[in-house]
Amino acid sequence: MIRLDAVTKRYGETYAVQEISLTARAGETTVLIGPSGSGKSTLLRLMIGLAEPDAGTVAVDGQRLARTNVQSLRHRMGYVIQEGGLFPHLTGRDNAALLARHLGWSEDRIDARIEELTQLVQLDPDRLSQYPSELSGGQRQRVSLMRALMLDPDVLLLDEPLGALDPMIRTDLQDDLRDIFRRLGKTVVFVTHNIGEAAFFGDRVALLRQGQIEQTGSMAGLLDDPASPFVTDFIQAQRAPLEHLAPGS
Ligand code: ADP
Repeated sequence: MIRLDAVTKRYGETYAVQEISLTARAGETTVLIGPSGSGKSTLLRLMIGLAEPDAGTVAVDGQRLARTNVQSLRHRMGYVIQEGGLFPHLTGRDNAALLARHLGWSEDRIDARIEELTQLVQLDPDRLSQYPSELSGGQRQRVSLMRALMLDPDVLLLDEPLGALDPMIRTDLQDDLRDIFRRLGKTVVFVTHNIGEAAFFGDRVALLRQGQIEQTGSMAGLLDDPASPFVTDFIQAQRAPLEHLAPGS
């Protein structure tokens, strides 16, 4: 579980995140949605300690994130970003194994874990000897997910992980990811600006606007009982692309 209490993060005069309180419940997928610049990525970076709050607290499983424990708490969280963030000079296998090697795992233990994860994320094992530039976008994200899951963290933080993929590959990975989240029962926080993706993944959704939370709840709740006109406008702006072709419209 991740809990934020009245967290504020400023960059100069800009409030990237302003007094946000939010709990990502254990075993659930919490989706952060909102327009570009609304503070989604900053919120995720605060959760994993890559950004430090100017005010308020972040706690992971009851432990307050601080400079002294950020490294050890980070090992309990896997992090995936849009472009994967893989090191270009390392093969898929070495990217996935990086942190485990750093922690002194034996090569046997690493091999066993890599094999397990290759099956879980449904990656062709031959791909692991290739470098990121030789992989497709979807394969790169599968390797990124392996890297994030290597230490079997309780928490997975994903920042627009499918944002750079073609629609068909994106759909495949959406299905696989949701299946993985359900099977592993991890606490997941997933950033997207796509309403369909939020509805697909989110047990709970938090809609952000200018560094603040406009509404939290189920996607159905946001649709049926919007807290403000902004909620309706945000959802409406992403109405189905083929809606205008519907008979009678
Ligand atoms: P989102 O992920 O919703 O697009 P971000 O969290 O990236 O939003 O950004 C929120 C606000 O904070 C934006 O106005 C952005 O310009 C600003 N911001 C984010 N990170 C930085 C940074 N490292 N330096 C300066 N401003 C930043």
